Amino acid sequence: MEVFTLFGTDEHKEKYLKPLLDGTIRSAFAMTEPDVASSDATNIEMSMVRDGDDYVLNGRKWFASNAMHKNCRVLIVMGKTDPAAAPHRQQSMMVVPIDAPGVTVVRNLPVFGYHDREGHAEILFEDVRVPSKDVLKGEGEGFAISQARLGPGRIHHCMRAIGVSERALELLCRRAQSRVTFGKPVADNANIQDWIAEARIEIEMIRLLTLKTAYLMDTVGNKEARTEIAAIKVAGPNIALKIVDRAIQVHGGGGVTDDFPLAMAYAHLRTLRLADGPDEVHKRAIAKQELRKYRDLRPTS
Ligand SMILES: Cc1cc2nc3c(=O)[nH]c(=O)nc-3n(C[C@H](O)[C@H](O)[C@H](O)COP(=O)(O)OP(=O)(O)OC[C@H]3O[C@@H](n4cnc5c(N)ncnc54)[C@H](O)[C@@H]3O)c2cc1C
Repeated sequence: MEVFTLFGTDEHKEKYLKPLLDGTIRSAFAMTEPDVASSDATNIEMSMVRDGDDYVLNGRKWFASNAMHKNCRVLIVMGKTDPAAAPHRQQSMMVVPIDAPGVTVVRNLPVFGYHDREGHAEILFEDVRVPSKDVLKGEGEGFAISQARLGPGRIHHCMRAIGVSERALELLCRRAQSRVTFGKPVADNANIQDWIAEARIEIEMIRLLTLKTAYLMDTVGNKEARTEIAAIKVAGPNIALKIVDRAIQVHGGGGVTDDFPLAMAYAHLRTLRLADGPDEVHKRAIAKQELRKYRDLRPTS
């Protein structure tokens, strides 16, 4: 929705943004490809070749979240329009109806054995024709759009991770109070209290960092807030995973079954260390910003 809001034409807004906001249709974003390391978006290989007033798309994408939803109508697809251009000007993004001729939704990828209802689709594009009016922002702008898009998406993930952390801590406390081993409630053991205290401290830490990030996004914009966006994208899922893991431990064998929501929560949270960029790529961005402050100390060759 952010992409249509920021870069869509009036026609895109009428045809897709309004029904997306009304909740009557869904969209999916197709950038990642099975055949190349997609955490570096310059690797993307889908070809988008100009032919008259159209572009012809060929390539294979995967992990297009939402694409299996019965109401998914439209894809935003990233590919290469000019492989000879500068590395960050080769890519473009196009609006493609999911039922366009040549688009095949191949399969729904399971995540740790779970199939999300909305799905993470593998999609094949074979000679898909896209009119030039459906190129977002213009040819060569794909990289810039992906940067604009991922800020809001990332902070939403973190907000959900905080919610899951709270739920897991509640379940942990309830279980630890109610189960008795060796003559006392599990909650009376010092290590369990340590886990509970650490969880509360860490939830408050990620909540405040998320609020700071949201404040900066609102006041100085996504670009200026990029270090905080990257930081919360790493911290949120990792802390939530640690808390859910400890809640599973306190639940014993039951914790890894589907009788409790913890195993599924763990599986979903684990994907957030990859979706919208792996931890290492966000840490790399943070480190670059920090090192930039001291670049005058680098030896000159
Ligand atoms: C549940 C889920 C939903 C997703 N939804 C979408 C979606 O809707 N649309 C979409 O286009 N994609 C989506 N993705 C894909 C996701 O964005 C990619 O998986 C991610 O960007 C990594 O790309 P890759 O899988 O090609 O890994 P690769 O690029 O092959 O990287 C593999 C690993 O290499 C390591 N690595 C990479 N760079 C560095 C570095 N500089 N330093 C150290 N280590 C490094 C990291 O550990 C990384 O995990 C989703 C993924 C998941 C799991």
